[in-house]
Amino acid sequence: MKLELHLIPKSCFYENLRLALGPRWEGVSDKFKASKNYTCEICGYHGNKNLIHAHEHWEWDDEKHTQTLTKVECVCNICHAVMHWGQSHTRGCNMDELCTHAAKINGCTKKEFMNHVEESFATWRIRADQKWIVDFGAFKSYLRG
Ligand SMILES: [Zn+2]
Repeated sequence: MKLELHLIPKSCFYENLRLALGPRWEGVSDKFKASKNYTCEICGYHGNKNLIHAHEHWEWDDEKHTQTLTKVECVCNICHAVMHWGQSHTRGCNMDELCTHAAKINGCTKKEFMNHVEESFATWRIRADQKWIVDFGAFKSYLRG
């Protein structure tokens, strides 16, 4: 699927580039967004710059229990809200609208996408019981500056 959920295990909620960089994040994230011409890499949205976000793309190794930052993606607010499904639900987003968007982008039915949502939460619940090592990967250099 092109647009998938990215559910962060609770123990890693506060370990990310945005928080690590503090006020510097704005400049760094804007560089990423500018390099993609403020265009959503998932759905192609291009328009209001304020609706474009920099998304930290993490990958999980379920054997080594490491969470690694592999890239920073340029995404629109709707795709970003789909990725952080749990948070969006808590914030009172229109989940049906998010589901419709995701199904369209992925070329699947809403039911198929909701199966992906369920599977993602099942994996997230398993990961919640693990202790994770957070690795900033190639982005470690940003932490030094
Ligand atoms: Zn998008």
